[in-house]
Amino acid sequence: MALIETHDLRFVYGKGTPFEKVALQGANLAINEGEFIGVIGHTGSGKSTLVQLLNGLLKPESGQILLNGKNIWEKPKKIRDIRFQVGLVFQYPEYQLFEETVYRDIAFGPMNKGIKGKDELDRIVRTAAEFAGLKESLLEKSPFDLSGGEKRRAAIAGVIAMEPKVLILDEPTAGLDPRGRDKILSRIKEYRKKTGSTVLLVSHSMEDIARVADRVLVMNHGNVEMFDTTENIFKQGQHLAEIGLKVPQVTQVFLELKKLGADVGTDVYTMDYAKNAALQYLRGSRTEGGEAQ
Ligand code: ADP
Repeated sequence: MALIETHDLRFVYGKGTPFEKVALQGANLAINEGEFIGVIGHTGSGKSTLVQLLNGLLKPESGQILLNGKNIWEKPKKIRDIRFQVGLVFQYPEYQLFEETVYRDIAFGPMNKGIKGKDELDRIVRTAAEFAGLKESLLEKSPFDLSGGEKRRAAIAGVIAMEPKVLILDEPTAGLDPRGRDKILSRIKEYRKKTGSTVLLVSHSMEDIARVADRVLVMNHGNVEMFDTTENIFKQGQHLAEIGLKVPQVTQVFLELKKLGADVGTDVYTMDYAKNAALQYLRGSRTEGGEAQ
């Protein structure tokens, strides 16, 4: 059984008003426990709406979301529990930091979840901070005194502290410089490796998605356009271009080489793999799908 399933999931903003907008028009998907899913799609394709539906923040117009086979809206009064199980880190989550200290901010979620013991809370806060790559010395500071990247990590720690089964991050590296992006991405990767959690990462960066995702969900005009392994998705450069998306730059380079007549594979989407493929080509033996990504 899949961990998360959606059936004909539909959502409309401003229903019955002149601004009515259908954001999801019947999305079907299934995600297994422990998977790392990349979510891509042009702006307005429905990515944010989808992830807010998955954690019960928005209620579907029609259709269902199943978590472990159970409809999350079966008991509307229990929807808060779903939000603890499916943690959502919003775009620019640092705007949601509001406590006096970083420590209290991270502790807010678990306290609401009902963790009362001081020692237990302390363990949770410190573990979450470590997972998010936040130095211990920052815990007693005001969140407003942190750098941009640190604030982002504090906000991520706040969601991790709820120990969610599923961690969803909506553009977690938006607005950060390349070093900040790298750090956050590495942390998410590490977190997933250590906890075996299911992770959904919404990103505009095909490079980021290529680095971390097992499978990629492609949204287009409120529908699931494609949902396949990262390799199979990035093989479909033409299809992606038609819906306003790109392949990772390194894949583009190999597609261009192929066009120029070089005997190279086009299933290349990470730098490590590209390096091997290029070396093999230069040594005179073509590669396609041979080496591990
Ligand atoms: P994405 O995350 O892929 O950019 P969204 O889920 O934010 O897409 O948006 C899907 C559609 O819903 C878009 O057409 C967007 O304009 C519309 N939309 C999103 N949020 C709102 C809102 N709060 N009110 C009205 N329309 C919205």
